Amino acid sequence: MLDCRKTGELIYRLRKEKGMTQLQLAEKLHVSDKAVSKWERGLGCPDVSLLSDLSETLGVNVERLLDGNMDINQEDAGNMNKIKFYVCEDCKSVFTATGAGEISCCGKKLSPLAAKDADDAHKLSIEEVEDEFYVTADHEMTKEHYIAFIAYVTYDRVNLVKTYPEQDLAVRFPQAQGGYYYYYCTGDGLYRMKG
Ligand SMILES: [Zn+2]
Ligand SMILES: [Zn+2]
Repeated sequence: MLDCRKTGELIYRLRKEKGMTQLQLAEKLHVSDKAVSKWERGLGCPDVSLLSDLSETLGVNVERLLDGNMDINQEDAGNMNKIKFYVCEDCKSVFTATGAGEISCCGKKLSPLAAKDADDAHKLSIEEVEDEFYVTADHEMTKEHYIAFIAYVTYDRVNLVKTYPEQDLAVRFPQAQGGYYYYYCTGDGLYRMKG
């Protein structure tokens, strides 16, 4: 259930923070600026079909839009910790999401991958080289079994690098403390390791 008044206030505040006019927001969502004005005054709620576009445009979780929670800056600061990874089995595309929402590819709905703790066969070696983290792993890189991406996730940033079979597994990330590595093995799934 939407509380139109709270949701409207939140939309208003986020729109202002983004420096967008009602018309600009309306155009992004393919609605009229009158509709946006109505929401912001609590006189009506955005249609459910607009929520995922609205959350993306305003940079806020759908859940947050729904409960109209104003403490977004604080709460969303840790948002990347909730990051989810998706891989399409058919075309091997990689997707990430931090909020709710559906991800589809090749005509199928994708499910988020569950990250396992790094095991001996799937451990990254990390060296500090100049102002970067130089990441390698002793894992095979054959077409049948390889690491398909390595991502370094800090509280406000995701840095994802795709890696390919029959190439050296070596990736550089700008140094940032306190992050987690997420990496995906085509044979064994998603792994997570503290940076
Ligand atoms: Zn696909
Ligand atoms: Zn593997």
